[in-house]
Amino acid sequence: MAVLMRAFYLVALGVFGLVFGSFANVVIWRLPRRESVVSPGSRCPSCGHPVRPLDNVPLASWLVLRGRCRDCGAPIHWRYPLVEGLSGALWVSAGLLFGLTARAGVAIVLFYLLMILSFIDLDVMRLPNVLVVVLAVAGVVFVAVSAGTGLPLAPLTWAPAAGLFASPLASALVGVAAGSGLLALISAGYRLARGRNGLGMGDVKLMAAGGLFVGPYVLLALFLGSALATVYGLSVAGLKKQPEEGVLLVPIPFGPFLAAGLVLAAAFGPALWSAYVHALSL
Ligand SMILES: [Zn+2]
Repeated sequence: MAVLMRAFYLVALGVFGLVFGSFANVVIWRLPRRESVVSPGSRCPSCGHPVRPLDNVPLASWLVLRGRCRDCGAPIHWRYPLVEGLSGALWVSAGLLFGLTARAGVAIVLFYLLMILSFIDLDVMRLPNVLVVVLAVAGVVFVAVSAGTGLPLAPLTWAPAAGLFASPLASALVGVAAGSGLLALISAGYRLARGRNGLGMGDVKLMAAGGLFVGPYVLLALFLGSALATVYGLSVAGLKKQPEEGVLLVPIPFGPFLAAGLVLAAAFGPALWSAYVHALSL
């Protein structure tokens, strides 16, 4: 019975994730263009025909229509089903990681907003303030509830037994300070060394908001994000066969990598840390 409940829970999360993924596509497209995310309903960008409800089913419609508009046959970008599928996968991951708990809901808020921010950053090289603020406000509320009631909501990595950061408030504050502080320092260093901006303030604000959700593990997020961005940057530079000088000048958005780092830190941070401590004590 428990197995059936768990399966039902995960399937439900997956369905909600797909539906919200469909809405994420709307936000990713319209928010940077300052259009309303509520109305009008979805239209084909080529012929302007409103999308029929049956053609708006996440993943399935795109497959049935084989990636083309029913009215004008214009191709529908594969990124739409990708975002829907990724959203579904992230919601299910939150359920797998945190079970049937309020913490799974907190993880969903974090993962979902990070996904939207990442795709906007990919499109316009910018992290819209309004979304980062939504993430930060949600984080403050979750941490405040945790501090007030002892209910473990945020930071997601906070465990009541953790000696070093015994309270959720201390854990979150360390996360905010460490995440934004270190990134601001790196940004200032880059500016000094190269005479121009390499990192946006949006990235610094993102790590401050992320610190509320992962506490001190924000440092792990920063490390993983930088490592992923470096690997990606080098492979892009390698593929494009840029001149030697230009290699470091390929502009890549940092947001998606920081977001991936935050998700990984929230998911595996404490387990990685205890494995590390365990390995050291042997
Ligand atoms: Zn069309």
